Amino acid sequence: MKTFRISDANYYSREANEHYMSATVFKRFLACEAEALAELKGIWVPERDPTALLAGNYLHSYFESPEAHQSFIDAHPEMFSTRGSTKGQLKTPYKVAESMIQALKDDPSFQAAYQGNKEEILTGEIDGVKWMGKLDCFDPSRAFFLDLKTTQDLHKKYWITDEKRWGSFVEAYNYPLQMAVYQELIRQNYGTRPAPILVAVSKQEPPDKAFVAIPQDKLDEAMQQLLDTQPRIEQIIAGETNPYRCEQCDYCRATKHLGQIITMNELIE
Ligand SMILES: [Zn+2]
Repeated sequence: MKTFRISDANYYSREANEHYMSATVFKRFLACEAEALAELKGIWVPERDPTALLAGNYLHSYFESPEAHQSFIDAHPEMFSTRGSTKGQLKTPYKVAESMIQALKDDPSFQAAYQGNKEEILTGEIDGVKWMGKLDCFDPSRAFFLDLKTTQDLHKKYWITDEKRWGSFVEAYNYPLQMAVYQELIRQNYGTRPAPILVAVSKQEPPDKAFVAIPQDKLDEAMQQLLDTQPRIEQIIAGETNPYRCEQCDYCRATKHLGQIITMNELIE
């Protein structure tokens, strides 16, 4: 097998996902094993709104470096209006991203904290499985590392189906799991165990912002969840176990056949 070297150019590729597990792919398996496997194998390409991804990258590249931001802008002319009185201006979703940048860039506490290596790729091994992660901002000499997170509203409540309770966007998107992985990859590469801090900024006008800490016990809990579920996910990827179908996601609906009868009570479980 030819050797694969992870880099900025291939980090988001399917080939990278074949060699390294990532928090993004792992969370897809937790959401729907059947869809995650189909996507990993390249037989299913989910329709994700490119706007949110582009807006997120617009913000991330700004805080990476002026060069990264400019090359991102050059590569995505579709972010700019091409006609009418707004010709040449950013389209609305990217104006929101621009407004989020403004909310952070002149904030003295953000400026002081957001120093260090930007978008550093780390790899490591967790319980025998190779993992990769990309750290937004990390200075090995400091006791914390930072991750930029954009969200609709910092205080919005999300229904956590598995636990039948309300939770924050941090729980809804399982950021403790992603941060637990990053912390472990830092430990393996640098021998330290800094604390993750989310730089959360909202898509509201004007944007809200906060430094959000994730307590170590929540990180440990998330790492335990990873260790508990990873063997099954690895078996599914290896073709040794059939994936479970959620029967609700785009993939499951697109590939569904009517079979068993369900009772009315199961519809909102
Ligand atoms: Zn599904």
